[in-house]
Parts: sequence; C-alpha cells; structure tokens
Amino acid sequence: MNFHIMTLFPEMVMQGLNTSIIGRAMDKGLINIEAVNIRDYAYNKHNKVDDYIYGGGAGMLMQAEPVYLCYEAVKNRIESGESDENSVSNNASAGDDSKAESNTASERIAISEDDISTEINGERRLRVVYLTPQGEVFSQKKAEELAKEEELILLCGHYEGIDERVLEEIVTDNISIGDYVLTGGELPAMIVVDAVSRLIPGVLNNDVSAEFESFNEGLLEYPQYSRPEVWHDKKVPEVLLSGHHANVDKWRHEQAIQRTKERRPDLYDRYAADSKD
Ligand code: SAM
Repeated sequence: MNFHIMTLFPEMVMQGLNTSIIGRAMDKGLINIEAVNIRDYAYNKHNKVDDYIYGGGAGMLMQAEPVYLCYEAVKNRIESGESDENSVSNNASAGDDSKAESNTASERIAISEDDISTEINGERRLRVVYLTPQGEVFSQKKAEELAKEEELILLCGHYEGIDERVLEEIVTDNISIGDYVLTGGELPAMIVVDAVSRLIPGVLNNDVSAEFESFNEGLLEYPQYSRPEVWHDKKVPEVLLSGHHANVDKWRHEQAIQRTKERRPDLYDRYAADSKD
C-alpha cells in the first residue's frame, strides 16, 4: 500500500513513522510512505503558502493553489507510476541491503487504473483524506475500510486550516482523531498511517485479523499478563495457567464484556443490542 502525505512538515512525519513496526514494514516494502512538501508548490518567490482570512479573524489560512498543485503532482505521479525525487520517502533513505530489496516507489505505484481509485457517488475517485477536527471521528472500522485502498493521499492542514474551495475539489473523506484542536494534521496523519498499516498482511508478525483485539466484535480486549506469575503479590489468574484452551477463551470473553461495560458503556450498549439481534 502506498501512502502519500501532503504536508508542510515532511521530516516530522517521516521521522515519526520511520521506526519500529512501521519502519520495518517500509524496509520490507510492505508499505511505502512519501511525504510531499506543499511548500514546493508555492507560486511566489517567498514560498509562502498562507494568507489572511477573508472576513477577518485571527490567524492565517493555507491557500488553495499550492495545495491543489501538490495534489495534482501526486495524482499524476500515481497515475504515471513515477516517483517524486523531492519528496521524503522510505525509499529516499534506502542504503542497506534490506532496504535495497524493497520495491522502489515507482515500482510500487505502477498499478492498474482500477486500483488507484475508489467509487464515490458512482464516480471513480482517488481517495484523499483531509485530517480535520471537523471530520468523522477515526475508528478501527474506518482503518479497515482504508486498508483496502492501494493508494491513499493524506492532507495535513496547518494554521487555521485550508481554503474551503480546494477541499471541495479534492477531498473524499474528512477524518478527525478526536474532539480537540491540534496545531496541524501531521500527528493525525501519522495515527491513520499507523492504524491502517498494521492491518496490511505481513506488517505484524501474527495475523492480526485472526486475533482478538479491542474493537473486534465491538468489545475492548480482556486483561493480559506476562511473566512472572506473581508480581507485587498479584497472581496471574489461575485459568490462564491451566492450559485449558476452552476455559481460557471463555474467561477472556467474559472479561472483555466486563471491561467494555465498565470502561465504554456506549460500546457495550451497542454490543448488547447487536447480540440480541
Ligand atoms: N480552524 C480549524 C477549526 O476550527 O476547525 C482548526 C485548524 S487546526 C488549528 C490546523 C490543522 O490541524 C487542521 O487543518 C487539521 O489538519 C489539523 N487538526 C487539528 N485538530 C485535528 C483533529 N482533532 N483531527 C484531525 N486533524 C486535526
């Protein structure tokens, strides 16, 4: 899967994603992430991409044109299967053997017309997610939906946001990571990339789809324990040491229900209603 992150701070995004599980997935060529600097598409000599807001009010707004030109460049590259030499990507840092084995950006984005678009209102469109506090709150379900895409463009705003006119033209999904306001869309974009990437086969060592995790089946995960058996006088529940798989499964399921009821009554009510159905 290929992520294209449109941002004013490409290094911030790549530094945040280039470690641990996501970094290894990039090295293995399971995912490809490029961060494209919107400022490279500024059309004035000072590389300015923001301006005052019509009608007054505090702060500055990202202008439509640089965002649009950046989007057009990313879209054209996806469609032609070329890579951007100026963008910061996992392939840009390829140096060691494991990285050399991974696909190049141009190899990975050379895909068929069918793969690069999604159907929205009967129209085939490239999926463009704008990270915004005004969007649908991000969920595991949304991550599962986005993981089906081959190409995903993520647009990060800054300052007071982005001129509405370009959003109307290019954005297919508005996603918020919660009801609070951040300074920029970079952290939300990293969260989306992380949650979606771990659903790509091979990114995690275990098959995550086969595992019970929070939000699978509409429940939170049960409590878990590792060695030692006794820590601070607290003993691991006996059933987990019994080796009796059916009893372990039963205990975990009950614990998942109990935990969800206590910590997320909203989720529990939905689960209870669905179970009745
Ligand atoms: N003026 C905007 C409003 O009131 O809706 C907020 C702009 S915010 C200061 C700047 C940028 O940060 C936004 O364009 C968006 O990309 C990002 N952002 C802030 N909070 C976010 C959230 N909860 N979820 C996703 N993106 C967020």
